[in-house]
Amino acid sequence: MKRIFATGISQESNSFNPLKSTYEDFTIYSGQEFRRMAGLSRLIESGFDVVESIWAKAVPGGTLKFEDFMRLADEMLKPLEEDKVGFDGVFLPMHGALNVEYIGSGEAFIANKIREIVGGDVPISAALDMHANITYSLANTCNIIYGFRTAPHIDVQETHAKAAELLIRAVKEGILPRSELIRIPLMMPGENMMTSSGIGKEIIAMLPDIEKNENKDIWCASYFVGMAWVDCPRNGAAFVISGAGDMEKGLDKAGDLARFAWDNRGKFEYQGLKMEPLEAVNFVIDRQSDRPVILSDSADNVTAGAVGDNTFMLNLFLAKGIEKALFAAIIDPNAVEVAKELETGGTLDIQIGGVFDKNSVKTMLKGAVIKHLTLNLEADKPKSCVLSYKGIDILLFDKRKPVFTEETLNEHGLSLENYNILVVKQGYLSPELNEAAKHSVMALTPGNCSQKIEEIRYEKVRRPVWPLDENTVF
Ligand SMILES: [Zn+2]
Repeated sequence: MKRIFATGISQESNSFNPLKSTYEDFTIYSGQEFRRMAGLSRLIESGFDVVESIWAKAVPGGTLKFEDFMRLADEMLKPLEEDKVGFDGVFLPMHGALNVEYIGSGEAFIANKIREIVGGDVPISAALDMHANITYSLANTCNIIYGFRTAPHIDVQETHAKAAELLIRAVKEGILPRSELIRIPLMMPGENMMTSSGIGKEIIAMLPDIEKNENKDIWCASYFVGMAWVDCPRNGAAFVISGAGDMEKGLDKAGDLARFAWDNRGKFEYQGLKMEPLEAVNFVIDRQSDRPVILSDSADNVTAGAVGDNTFMLNLFLAKGIEKALFAAIIDPNAVEVAKELETGGTLDIQIGGVFDKNSVKTMLKGAVIKHLTLNLEADKPKSCVLSYKGIDILLFDKRKPVFTEETLNEHGLSLENYNILVVKQGYLSPELNEAAKHSVMALTPGNCSQKIEEIRYEKVRRPVWPLDENTVF
């Protein structure tokens, strides 16, 4: 029976978030929980003996601390290091934009460690997020690289299953594929590459054409938009094609597609409405009777690793006297700690926001009413309190978690139908909230993941790169 080793780590880093990520930020999946996921179950169904260690997943966050990454890496690699039999293949579901203190790409580190142990003739198949910043090291080490084809990502399981299927093919046919990387000197916020419309949709639609080849030498093609808010040399867009034998034709096609992406670099645009903060506030005021109106505070986007503690937008709402609005959620463990000592219905004077990031705006609330407390959800879910203040409800979380769905609001004692306006810390909206919104707008706020990347002071990004440098050529 052919043996497969499986492990993985998934966190998108935002190196502008001053709060470093730690071991405790990760949820660890092992045993049946990991084996039930699409990639592993596909391998098991195909008759492979799968030996898994852990799959560690965290909400996007700041750069991962070195010691904490090494602890995770030790747990991930332990069964492999202790193994005496040997493996026929390795399955690696990862992200691709994990930034580790002192190391850089966490994925490249893991893949290289595995390569050292298994040797050069065992295929390694990696499934990655579309927002991966691909290094040459990662592409050289992984025989197969396959990335998401949707943003927002609704094809995670399909991607993992496909990467597993390609690994099955490599092992069964005794072929050692290779991955080729075509980097494009192009950076952008993920919001500029959505796949339901626009240039993003066009690029994804062209990938199957690269894969269509008579001699079946091209196994898969993927486009990676990159993760703009990581200050690292490898930041930027790339095509990766994996295959074996004569890949020249496929590489030519991928090269043409890279040229297409470059030539259309000015057309990568957010497909919804985006506005300066005050303009966005006036937009929601004008439409609040046709509810719900959803505003995303894009630069404090927790789903892109921002800290989530900025009350910049809350202050604008208070200044305008807006009511029937819900902020979900602002991250403030101190406020939750104070509120949980009091009772629902109690009042308090409290400063919220600016807990982790000294550049985040704070807000003083005098006489805020505790509307709801949620203190007993499962361990990986945040404890929360809801404060009511001048007609606005503010959901405060004790740890960084995004609110993607109405169900999450329900879990914290809230119902979207009670509000005209919802403010979330996202860039593009989650599919569920996008569906729920009558109107939506992305506010170009200041913060850890500003949409105006040309104004960010990068120190490590390899230059020249567009749009940071006008003289960039490709
Ligand atoms: Zn992503």
